[in-house]
Amino acid sequence: MRSFEKSEDAYKEAVDLMPGGVNSPVRAFKSVGMSPVFMESGKGSKIVDIDKNEYIDYVLSWGPLILGHADGRVVEKLKEVAEKGTSFGAPTLLENKLAQLVIDRVPSIEMVRMVNSGTEATMSALRLARGYTGRDKILKFEGNYHGHGDSLLIKAGSGVATLGLPDSPGVPESIAQNTITVPYNDVESVRYAFETYGEDIAAVIVEPVSGNMGVVPPQENFLQDLRKITENNGSVLIFDEVMTGFRVGYNCAQGYFGVTPDLTCLGKVIGGGLPVGAYGGKREIMESVAPTGSIYQAGTLSGNPLAMTAGYETLNALEPSSYEDINAKVDRLVEGYKQAAIDYDIPLHINRAGSMVGFFFTNEPVINYESAQQSNLDYFSQYYRAMMEEGIFLPPSQFEGLFLSTAHTEEDIEKTIQAVRTAFSKIEK
Ligand code: PMP
Repeated sequence: MRSFEKSEDAYKEAVDLMPGGVNSPVRAFKSVGMSPVFMESGKGSKIVDIDKNEYIDYVLSWGPLILGHADGRVVEKLKEVAEKGTSFGAPTLLENKLAQLVIDRVPSIEMVRMVNSGTEATMSALRLARGYTGRDKILKFEGNYHGHGDSLLIKAGSGVATLGLPDSPGVPESIAQNTITVPYNDVESVRYAFETYGEDIAAVIVEPVSGNMGVVPPQENFLQDLRKITENNGSVLIFDEVMTGFRVGYNCAQGYFGVTPDLTCLGKVIGGGLPVGAYGGKREIMESVAPTGSIYQAGTLSGNPLAMTAGYETLNALEPSSYEDINAKVDRLVEGYKQAAIDYDIPLHINRAGSMVGFFFTNEPVINYESAQQSNLDYFSQYYRAMMEEGIFLPPSQFEGLFLSTAHTEEDIEKTIQAVRTAFSKIEK
């Protein structure tokens, strides 16, 4: 049995210092009946906790570390840049470099603004869409998580789904009233919402592959239909690619599915493990942002040199073949999970889009928030704890996908499959 003694002590100390002992709720491990594991270091696909337990890491800081931990190319550049000063509050060439790369790679982005997190990106994109259209309402999908901005913390996924809080106290009703929510993959409900409120809807915001109710891909034509409906109604289509951006594929989910939104929100991989978010899109819309336009948005540390460096070096190291490489590992992993489920008679539904993959403990298809809830959470937490024991670090929630990196090896995958077999064999039904 692994010992988590130091983590347990650290947690006891932390709960007095921070709400729940953590700086972001999912890290509290509540839904899997454990206390959080405190991490000390990471290299490549491996992560080590303060009790010196080593794990193959499928959390990867919840997505950003697509090259794995402490990639040599990224770390070397970070050291170089840090020596020259960590922040100037004035433009640097590093911002141009990352902006150009993002514009080259993301089909919808003609102009981009850097911010510090995914939450900032979505909040800013919404303000922009509202300011640009002169409308107040937005439409979002149940179980899609777009960060913790007031307008978006309504029927959200991620930690909110995990904690079973459909809404958060503190979000004023007057704000919530402007957010229309409909089931994911349900175009008829979107049409109905537009028939009812069309003139007032500033934007539709969507995770082009849902990653915050577990992984739920868009059904055929869902994104294409959203594109048509928003276009016909003069609403802005926003793809929240904070999770999917540079992960689903080289040109993000929009490249993968061939649907171009008006605005795109980015986070996670774009910062390569440092705090970065971005929003961008059509030049005409982006020019409405201050100082060219009147829609205000700003940030003391936005475009920070270290953050820009980690983002640039990470994206620059990725090639289309990097995704083929990750996809091949996901193929093998999926095969291993499937066989284990058959051999140990475990209900398992697998959803996937490119290198985004999620496993649900149910035999029913999972196409939206409601169907995601059918997953057997007791099986999930038994599996989760057994995987920890086997040295596999997974997101501690059924409602998150797995993240792989270019650093994961075939040996890692085989070890993981063995661990899955052990975990499934131990599940008490
Ligand atoms: N949008 C999506 C799709 C996300 O997955 C997340 C974070 N998991 C966010 C927005 C918020 O990003 P951040 O946590 O960086 O604020």
